[in-house]
Amino acid sequence: MITGGWAEPDRGEIMNNGIIFDIKRYSIHDGPGIRTTFFLKGCPLSCWWCHNPEGMSSQPILVRHSNRCIGCGRCIESCSTGAWIRSTEGRLSYDRKKCTLCGKCADACPSAAIEMAGKEMTPGDVFLEAKKDIPFYDQSGGGVTFSGGEPLLQIRFLLACLHKMQEEEIHTAVDTSGYCEESTILDAAKIADLFLFDIKHIDPKKHEYYTGVSNHIILSNLKKLDETLARRGRGRINIRMPLIPGINDDSENLEAVAKLSASLKTLSGVNILPYHSTGEGKYRNLGMEYKMGNVLPPQDEKIAEALDIFRSQNIEAAKGG
Ligand code: SF4
Ligand code: SF4
Repeated sequence: MITGGWAEPDRGEIMNNGIIFDIKRYSIHDGPGIRTTFFLKGCPLSCWWCHNPEGMSSQPILVRHSNRCIGCGRCIESCSTGAWIRSTEGRLSYDRKKCTLCGKCADACPSAAIEMAGKEMTPGDVFLEAKKDIPFYDQSGGGVTFSGGEPLLQIRFLLACLHKMQEEEIHTAVDTSGYCEESTILDAAKIADLFLFDIKHIDPKKHEYYTGVSNHIILSNLKKLDETLARRGRGRINIRMPLIPGINDDSENLEAVAKLSASLKTLSGVNILPYHSTGEGKYRNLGMEYKMGNVLPPQDEKIAEALDIFRSQNIEAAKGG
Protein backbone atom coordinates (compact mmCIF):
# COMPACT_ATOMS: atom_id res chain seq x y z
CA MET A 1 0.00 0.00 0.00
CA ILE A 2 1.23 3.48 -0.82
CA THR A 3 1.56 5.67 2.26
CA GLY A 4 3.16 8.99 3.11
CA GLY A 5 0.88 11.71 1.84
CA TRP A 6 -0.30 10.20 -1.45
CA ALA A 7 -3.14 12.53 -2.35
CA GLU A 8 -6.53 11.64 -3.75
CA PRO A 9 -6.95 12.84 -7.35
CA ASP A 10 -7.91 16.49 -7.15
CA ARG A 11 -10.15 18.58 -9.36
CA GLY A 12 -7.21 19.64 -11.51
CA GLU A 13 -6.16 16.06 -12.14
CA ILE A 14 -9.69 14.98 -13.03
CA MET A 15 -9.79 17.76 -15.62
CA ASN A 16 -6.33 16.73 -16.89
CA ASN A 17 -5.00 20.07 -15.71
CA GLY A 18 -2.03 20.20 -13.39
CA ILE A 19 -0.49 22.39 -10.73
CA ILE A 20 2.98 23.67 -11.61
CA PHE A 21 5.10 25.61 -9.15
CA ASP A 22 8.05 26.56 -11.32
CA ILE A 23 9.36 26.50 -14.87
CA LYS A 24 13.11 26.53 -15.39
CA ARG A 25 14.41 27.36 -18.86
CA TYR A 26 17.84 26.63 -20.34
CA SER A 27 18.52 23.95 -17.74
CA ILE A 28 21.60 21.82 -18.35
CA HIS A 29 21.17 19.71 -15.20
CA ASP A 30 17.91 17.87 -15.80
CA GLY A 31 18.79 15.47 -18.60
CA PRO A 32 20.67 15.73 -21.91
CA GLY A 33 21.17 19.03 -23.75
CA ILE A 34 19.36 22.26 -22.98
CA ARG A 35 16.01 21.63 -21.35
CA THR A 36 12.88 23.28 -20.07
CA THR A 37 11.97 21.82 -16.69
CA PHE A 38 8.42 21.93 -15.36
CA PHE A 39 8.07 21.42 -11.62
CA LEU A 40 4.82 19.66 -10.70
CA LYS A 41 3.40 20.19 -7.26
CA GLY A 42 2.95 17.53 -4.60
CA CYS A 43 5.27 14.86 -3.24
CA PRO A 44 4.59 11.74 -1.14
CA LEU A 45 8.09 11.96 0.37
CA SER A 46 9.43 14.54 2.79
CA CYS A 47 13.21 14.30 2.42
CA TRP A 48 15.09 16.28 5.04
CA TRP A 49 17.34 17.86 2.41
CA CYS A 50 14.64 18.73 -0.16
CA HIS A 51 15.58 22.02 -1.81
CA ASN A 52 12.07 22.55 -3.21
CA PRO A 53 9.91 22.47 -0.05
CA GLU A 54 7.35 24.68 -1.80
CA GLY A 55 6.67 21.67 -4.04
CA MET A 56 5.79 19.24 -1.25
CA SER A 57 2.12 20.10 -0.82
CA SER A 58 -0.11 19.24 -3.77
CA GLN A 59 -1.94 22.57 -3.60
CA PRO A 60 -0.69 26.12 -4.27
CA ILE A 61 1.03 27.68 -1.28
CA LEU A 62 1.82 31.24 -0.24
CA VAL A 63 5.53 32.00 0.19
CA ARG A 64 6.72 35.07 2.12
CA HIS A 65 9.96 36.87 1.28
CA SER A 66 10.08 39.08 4.38
CA ASN A 67 13.40 40.64 3.38
CA ARG A 68 11.69 42.29 0.38
CA CYS A 69 8.79 43.77 2.39
CA ILE A 70 8.63 47.60 2.43
CA GLY A 71 5.79 47.68 4.97
CA CYS A 72 3.23 49.38 2.69
CA GLY A 73 0.29 47.37 4.05
CA ARG A 74 -1.32 46.63 0.67
CA CYS A 75 -1.51 42.94 1.57
CA ILE A 76 -3.69 43.82 4.57
CA GLU A 77 -5.99 45.97 2.43
CA SER A 78 -6.34 43.35 -0.30
CA CYS A 79 -7.12 40.42 1.98
CA SER A 80 -10.80 39.83 2.76
CA THR A 81 -10.19 37.05 5.30
CA GLY A 82 -7.96 38.98 7.69
CA ALA A 83 -5.00 36.67 7.16
CA TRP A 84 -2.57 39.60 7.27
CA ILE A 85 -2.37 41.74 10.40
CA ARG A 86 -0.03 44.40 11.69
CA SER A 87 0.79 44.32 15.40
CA THR A 88 0.83 47.47 17.54
CA GLU A 89 4.63 47.40 17.21
CA GLY A 90 4.18 47.51 13.42
CA ARG A 91 5.18 43.89 12.76
CA LEU A 92 3.39 42.21 9.86
CA SER A 93 2.18 38.66 10.38
CA TYR A 94 0.40 36.13 8.20
CA ASP A 95 -2.04 33.48 9.44
CA ARG A 96 -1.93 30.46 7.11
CA LYS A 97 -5.14 29.05 8.68
CA LYS A 98 -7.18 32.06 7.57
CA CYS A 99 -5.75 32.13 4.06
CA THR A 100 -7.91 30.84 1.18
CA LEU A 101 -5.01 31.11 -1.31
CA CYS A 102 -6.89 33.57 -3.52
CA GLY A 103 -3.59 35.23 -4.49
CA LYS A 104 -4.89 38.82 -4.19
CA CYS A 105 -2.19 39.90 -1.73
CA ALA A 106 0.55 38.57 -4.01
CA ASP A 107 -0.93 40.60 -6.89
CA ALA A 108 -1.18 43.69 -4.69
CA CYS A 109 2.32 43.52 -3.21
CA PRO A 110 4.55 46.06 -5.00
CA SER A 111 7.83 44.45 -3.97
CA ALA A 112 7.28 40.76 -4.76
CA ALA A 113 7.44 39.95 -1.05
CA ILE A 114 4.54 37.51 -1.47
CA GLU A 115 4.61 34.72 -4.00
CA MET A 116 2.01 32.08 -4.84
CA ALA A 117 3.89 28.84 -5.53
CA GLY A 118 1.68 26.77 -7.78
CA LYS A 119 -0.67 27.60 -10.61
CA GLU A 120 -3.05 25.51 -12.65
CA MET A 121 -1.97 24.83 -16.22
CA THR A 122 -3.42 22.76 -19.04
CA PRO A 123 -1.23 20.37 -21.04
CA GLY A 124 -1.71 22.86 -23.90
CA ASP A 125 -0.29 25.68 -21.73
CA VAL A 126 2.72 23.50 -20.94
CA PHE A 127 3.27 22.74 -24.60
CA LEU A 128 3.10 26.44 -25.53
CA GLU A 129 5.78 27.19 -22.92
CA ALA A 130 7.96 24.32 -24.13
CA LYS A 131 7.50 25.30 -27.78
CA LYS A 132 9.32 28.60 -27.19
CA ASP A 133 12.53 26.67 -26.54
CA ILE A 134 12.39 24.16 -29.42
CA PRO A 135 15.35 25.80 -31.25
CA PHE A 136 17.50 25.18 -28.15
CA TYR A 137 16.42 21.53 -27.96
CA ASP A 138 17.24 21.07 -31.64
CA GLN A 139 20.71 22.59 -31.30
CA SER A 140 21.67 20.75 -28.13
CA GLY A 141 19.82 17.43 -28.19
CA GLY A 142 17.72 18.67 -25.29
CA GLY A 143 14.02 18.56 -24.51
CA VAL A 144 11.52 18.82 -21.69
CA THR A 145 11.88 17.46 -18.15
CA PHE A 146 9.03 16.96 -15.71
CA SER A 147 10.23 17.27 -12.13
CA GLY A 148 8.72 18.23 -8.81
CA GLY A 149 7.64 17.48 -6.23
CA GLU A 150 6.84 14.10 -7.67
CA PRO A 151 5.53 14.42 -11.25
CA LEU A 152 3.93 10.95 -11.17
CA LEU A 153 1.57 12.22 -8.49
CA GLN A 154 -0.31 14.10 -11.24
CA ILE A 155 -0.23 11.18 -13.65
CA ARG A 156 -3.14 12.15 -15.93
CA PHE A 157 -1.75 15.61 -16.45
CA LEU A 158 1.75 14.21 -16.91
CA LEU A 159 0.60 11.67 -19.51
CA ALA A 160 -1.28 14.37 -21.41
CA CYS A 161 1.85 16.57 -21.40
CA LEU A 162 4.08 13.68 -22.49
CA HIS A 163 1.71 12.90 -25.38
CA LYS A 164 1.81 16.51 -26.55
CA MET A 165 5.61 16.52 -26.53
CA GLN A 166 5.74 13.15 -28.30
CA GLU A 167 3.49 14.48 -31.09
CA GLU A 168 6.10 17.18 -31.73
CA GLU A 169 9.01 14.74 -31.33
CA ILE A 170 10.34 16.57 -28.27
CA HIS A 171 12.58 14.44 -26.04
CA THR A 172 11.06 13.94 -22.58
CA ALA A 173 12.48 13.07 -19.18
CA VAL A 174 10.64 12.32 -15.93
CA ASP A 175 12.51 13.08 -12.71
CA THR A 176 10.99 10.75 -10.11
CA SER A 177 11.40 9.33 -6.63
CA GLY A 178 9.82 6.13 -7.97
CA TYR A 179 7.33 6.11 -5.12
CA CYS A 180 3.98 5.39 -6.76
CA GLU A 181 1.73 2.57 -7.90
CA GLU A 182 3.55 0.25 -10.30
CA SER A 183 0.95 0.83 -13.02
CA THR A 184 1.56 4.59 -12.77
CA ILE A 185 5.26 4.46 -13.58
CA LEU A 186 4.67 1.85 -16.28
CA ASP A 187 2.07 4.13 -17.90
CA ALA A 188 4.64 6.92 -18.04
CA ALA A 189 7.20 4.42 -19.40
CA LYS A 190 5.05 3.96 -22.51
CA ILE A 191 5.86 7.52 -23.58
CA ALA A 192 8.79 9.09 -21.69
CA ASP A 193 12.25 8.80 -23.26
CA LEU A 194 14.24 8.98 -20.03
CA PHE A 195 13.69 8.48 -16.31
CA LEU A 196 15.85 10.41 -13.87
CA PHE A 197 15.35 7.98 -11.00
CA ASP A 198 16.40 9.08 -7.50
CA ILE A 199 17.97 6.56 -5.15
CA LYS A 200 18.47 8.15 -1.76
CA HIS A 201 19.39 5.22 0.46
CA ILE A 202 19.54 1.46 0.04
CA ASP A 203 18.59 0.71 3.65
CA PRO A 204 14.76 0.68 4.01
CA LYS A 205 14.78 1.84 7.64
CA LYS A 206 17.17 4.73 7.05
CA HIS A 207 15.25 5.61 3.90
CA GLU A 208 12.06 5.82 5.90
CA TYR A 209 13.72 7.85 8.66
CA TYR A 210 15.05 10.50 6.29
CA THR A 211 12.28 10.60 3.67
CA GLY A 212 9.13 9.47 5.49
CA VAL A 213 8.67 6.29 3.40
CA SER A 214 10.40 2.93 3.04
CA ASN A 215 12.20 2.20 -0.25
CA HIS A 216 10.53 -1.19 -0.88
CA ILE A 217 8.08 0.18 -3.45
CA ILE A 218 10.76 2.37 -5.03
CA LEU A 219 13.21 -0.50 -5.57
CA SER A 220 10.46 -2.77 -6.86
CA ASN A 221 9.30 -0.06 -9.31
CA LEU A 222 12.86 0.50 -10.48
CA LYS A 223 13.22 -3.19 -11.34
CA LYS A 224 9.85 -3.32 -13.13
CA LEU A 225 10.59 -0.11 -15.02
CA ASP A 226 13.96 -1.44 -16.16
CA GLU A 227 12.49 -4.77 -17.31
CA THR A 228 9.71 -2.99 -19.20
CA LEU A 229 12.02 -0.53 -20.96
CA ALA A 230 14.46 -3.32 -21.84
CA ARG A 231 11.68 -5.47 -23.28
CA ARG A 232 10.45 -2.60 -25.41
CA GLY A 233 13.94 -1.59 -26.47
CA ARG A 234 13.04 2.06 -25.86
CA GLY A 235 13.65 4.40 -22.92
CA ARG A 236 16.56 4.66 -20.49
CA ILE A 237 17.12 5.13 -16.77
CA ASN A 238 19.55 7.58 -15.25
CA ILE A 239 20.16 7.03 -11.53
CA ARG A 240 20.52 10.19 -9.47
CA MET A 241 21.86 10.01 -5.98
CA PRO A 242 22.11 12.95 -3.60
CA LEU A 243 25.39 12.68 -1.67
CA ILE A 244 24.78 13.79 1.90
CA PRO A 245 27.51 13.69 4.54
CA GLY A 246 26.63 11.48 7.50
CA ILE A 247 23.38 10.30 5.90
CA ASN A 248 24.14 8.24 2.80
CA ASP A 249 27.82 8.78 1.95
CA ASP A 250 29.24 5.68 3.67
CA SER A 251 31.00 3.22 1.37
CA GLU A 252 28.60 0.40 2.25
CA ASN A 253 25.64 2.39 0.95
CA LEU A 254 27.51 3.72 -2.09
CA GLU A 255 28.67 0.23 -3.05
CA ALA A 256 25.13 -1.14 -2.72
CA VAL A 257 23.68 1.65 -4.91
CA ALA A 258 26.48 1.10 -7.44
CA LYS A 259 25.72 -2.62 -7.55
CA LEU A 260 22.02 -1.94 -8.00
CA SER A 261 22.74 0.57 -10.79
CA ALA A 262 25.07 -1.86 -12.55
CA SER A 263 22.32 -4.49 -12.55
CA LEU A 264 20.01 -2.29 -14.68
CA LYS A 265 19.79 -3.23 -18.36
CA THR A 266 18.70 0.24 -19.46
CA LEU A 267 21.08 2.35 -17.37
CA SER A 268 22.38 5.43 -19.17
CA GLY A 269 24.54 6.61 -16.27
CA VAL A 270 24.64 7.79 -12.68
CA ASN A 271 24.72 11.36 -11.45
CA ILE A 272 26.00 12.15 -7.97
CA LEU A 273 24.33 15.28 -6.66
CA PRO A 274 26.35 16.80 -3.80
CA TYR A 275 24.17 18.12 -0.98
CA HIS A 276 23.91 21.90 -0.65
CA SER A 277 21.94 23.98 1.80
CA THR A 278 20.63 26.62 -0.62
CA GLY A 279 17.04 25.53 0.11
CA GLU A 280 17.33 26.52 3.78
CA GLY A 281 15.99 30.04 3.25
CA LYS A 282 12.88 28.63 1.55
CA TYR A 283 12.01 26.71 4.73
CA ARG A 284 12.17 29.97 6.67
CA ASN A 285 9.96 31.74 4.12
CA LEU A 286 7.42 28.91 4.35
CA GLY A 287 7.50 28.69 8.14
CA MET A 288 8.76 25.08 7.87
CA GLU A 289 11.40 23.32 9.94
CA TYR A 290 14.75 22.68 8.19
CA LYS A 291 16.04 19.44 9.68
CA MET A 292 19.53 19.43 8.18
CA GLY A 293 21.02 21.60 10.93
CA ASN A 294 24.73 22.13 10.36
CA VAL A 295 25.28 19.48 7.70
CA LEU A 296 27.89 20.81 5.26
CA PRO A 297 28.28 19.97 1.55
CA PRO A 298 30.52 16.94 0.89
CA GLN A 299 34.26 17.54 0.39
CA ASP A 300 35.70 17.12 -3.12
CA GLU A 301 37.60 13.98 -1.99
CA LYS A 302 34.35 12.37 -0.83
CA ILE A 303 32.69 13.13 -4.16
CA ALA A 304 35.67 11.67 -6.04
CA GLU A 305 35.55 8.57 -3.82
CA ALA A 306 31.83 8.12 -4.56
CA LEU A 307 32.40 8.50 -8.32
CA ASP A 308 35.21 5.92 -8.17
CA ILE A 309 32.90 3.40 -6.50
CA PHE A 310 30.41 3.71 -9.36
CA ARG A 311 33.10 3.74 -12.06
CA SER A 312 34.62 0.57 -10.61
CA GLN A 313 31.35 -1.10 -11.69
CA ASN A 314 31.90 0.19 -15.26
CA ILE A 315 29.19 2.80 -14.81
CA GLU A 316 29.40 6.19 -16.46
CA ALA A 317 29.23 8.40 -13.38
CA ALA A 318 29.35 12.18 -13.16
CA LYS A 319 29.04 14.88 -10.53
CA GLY A 320 25.91 17.04 -10.79
CA GLY A 321 23.64 16.95 -13.81
S1 SF4 B 1 -3.89 34.68 -0.64
FE1 SF4 B 1 -5.88 35.73 -0.40
S2 SF4 B 1 -6.72 34.95 1.53
FE2 SF4 B 1 -4.53 34.42 1.50
S3 SF4 B 1 -3.55 36.08 2.60
FE3 SF4 B 1 -3.47 36.62 0.40
S4 SF4 B 1 -5.32 37.86 0.03
FE4 SF4 B 1 -5.59 36.82 2.02
S1 SF4 C 1 2.09 44.36 0.32
FE1 SF4 C 1 4.12 43.39 0.22
S2 SF4 C 1 5.56 45.06 0.66
FE2 SF4 C 1 3.52 45.78 1.32
S3 SF4 C 1 3.43 45.24 3.51
FE3 SF4 C 1 2.51 43.54 2.38
S4 SF4 C 1 4.21 42.09 2.05
FE4 SF4 C 1 5.12 44.05 2.62
